[in-house]
Amino acid sequence: GMSGPIAVSLHDITVRFGRLTALDSVAFDVPAGQHRAIIGPNGAGKSTLFGVVAGTHRPTSGRVIVDGDDITSLPVHRRADVGVITTFQHSSLFLRETVLENVLLAVARKARVAHRWFRPATAYREQLERSAELLAQVGLAGREALPAGALSHGERRQLEVGVALAAEPRVLLLDEPAAGMSPAETARLSELIRGLPAEMTVLLVEHDLDLVFDLAHEVTVLHLGQLLTTGSVAQVRANEDVQRAYLGA
Ligand code: ADP
Ligand code: MG
Repeated sequence: GMSGPIAVSLHDITVRFGRLTALDSVAFDVPAGQHRAIIGPNGAGKSTLFGVVAGTHRPTSGRVIVDGDDITSLPVHRRADVGVITTFQHSSLFLRETVLENVLLAVARKARVAHRWFRPATAYREQLERSAELLAQVGLAGREALPAGALSHGERRQLEVGVALAAEPRVLLLDEPAAGMSPAETARLSELIRGLPAEMTVLLVEHDLDLVFDLAHEVTVLHLGQLLTTGSVAQVRANEDVQRAYLGA
């Protein structure tokens, strides 16, 4: 593809758990605005790699660079400051609060963190409007007043994306977003991801290859802790090493 600025650059990432090497000198760049999927059979190191970028795993060696800044040692709760926002596989929603309140909390937190000029007369109304916009964007218009716990599994994942978007990510990390979704919910999620702002970089770890092939601009394949290949969907589908890794042949 075209070469633009690099949003995420992984330099020789190695992660060892005792004697096991979960990631072995994995290196790749993700251009800004790209939707990059990371796939591979079980045990390939996908979750570990995701954790290294999200900040839940510290690599044994190597560096994580985002927009030119080395964030390797930045703790997970500080990664939002540099625009790295993660939706984790295990939901962090407030299930007893309403759908609107879940997004509103995230919008208000972002407003505080950004040190925006505080205008008490309008801030709350603006935050409400922004929350409603986000909920419409993720396909939850009309569900605002429900407790988050009353949503279907797929709708919860949509709400998680809405909460993530409230933080205005530069790099959005999605950890198996389609896990447990119905085909209709997966299709809606795919549409939602494809509709994200063009400048937003998305890193996606996902088992559902139909979803991956539907929305990834490029796919990185891991196998037993090593980077097997990175390429377009067509290249990866046609790659015999990839087929072998998946079929175990
Ligand atoms: P994937 O997500 O691709 O299935 P993981 O990143 O979860 O792969 O795991 C890669 C390898 O690292 C596997 O062999 C797994 O058993 C091992 N592993 C992952 N996390 C830990 C951990 N905390 N301690 C020890 N081994 C781990
Ligand atoms: Mg995993």
